Amino acid sequence: MFYVTVLGSGATLPTLQRHTTSVAVQREGDIFLFDCGEGTQLQWLKAGLRRGKLRAICISHTHGDHVNGLVGFLQTLGLHGRERPLTLVGPPGLGKIIKYAKETVGLRTPYHLETIESTGGSVIEMGGCTVSCQLLEHHGRDTLGFRVEEAERPGRFDVETALGLGVPEGPLFGALQRGERVELPDGTVVDPSQVLGLPRSGSALAYCPDTRPCEGALKLAHRVGLLIFDSTYSEDLSFEANERGHSTAREAAQMALDAGAKHLLLIHFSERYASRKRLNGLLEEARSLFLQVELAHDLMEIQV
Ligand SMILES: [Zn+2]
Ligand SMILES: [Zn+2]
Repeated sequence: MFYVTVLGSGATLPTLQRHTTSVAVQREGDIFLFDCGEGTQLQWLKAGLRRGKLRAICISHTHGDHVNGLVGFLQTLGLHGRERPLTLVGPPGLGKIIKYAKETVGLRTPYHLETIESTGGSVIEMGGCTVSCQLLEHHGRDTLGFRVEEAERPGRFDVETALGLGVPEGPLFGALQRGERVELPDGTVVDPSQVLGLPRSGSALAYCPDTRPCEGALKLAHRVGLLIFDSTYSEDLSFEANERGHSTAREAAQMALDAGAKHLLLIHFSERYASRKRLNGLLEEARSLFLQVELAHDLMEIQV
């Protein structure tokens, strides 16, 4: 299960209504932060998130609206005495920002900061959860989208069947739930397949904030529970969307449909969509193709 908090939902520059696009994903005591524009660390505080739980920061690309808050956030972690290592993932060139910040503005990271520059593939694997990335189609520089996915979980344990087979409650229950065969006191062997249902797929979500509809995004979004996707423009500005490497709300909906996503969250709105009426226009445009769609707003929370 993932707990998603939208820290920012706007494009290009912060406004009084929206910070620039950034999303925190919590899972079992770890938080993955996706993008870190100006003000992200303040949004983090407003959302009541704990810095100690931060496990990794994944940066989609080095346009300012996705990275201008990174150095400040890393500095704050150091000032608060962080010792836990931190993983920083992003496209080629991200490491330079850290290097220059250390040389120029005195960034200090007294914790181990592991920087991974990637152009695709698995970047983090931990505790039954994988973060992977793919190159997207955005203008100007390498841009990544991310997918966070839990490993398959064992099927449900059928207590009544287990008791019926003569398995006593206690450690043997646990062994069967872990997929181990057990031997009962009378010598009978019980196989986990006798008491476990079919394996259950884990939660999955994809984050593609700045992109045209493309093959990379389609791979990341394949059958996810939640697709968070670029919706910078409405369809009447599809020329601008194409020119600037962004998507329209309708294109986001088409992507969710093509990928078999369960739920779509539109994000990264141009500041021209400030009024409720204009925002609803984006929503209706997407909903004409894909029903399970919502508009992101700052500090909203979603379970996946
Ligand atoms: Zn952007
Ligand atoms: Zn961008």
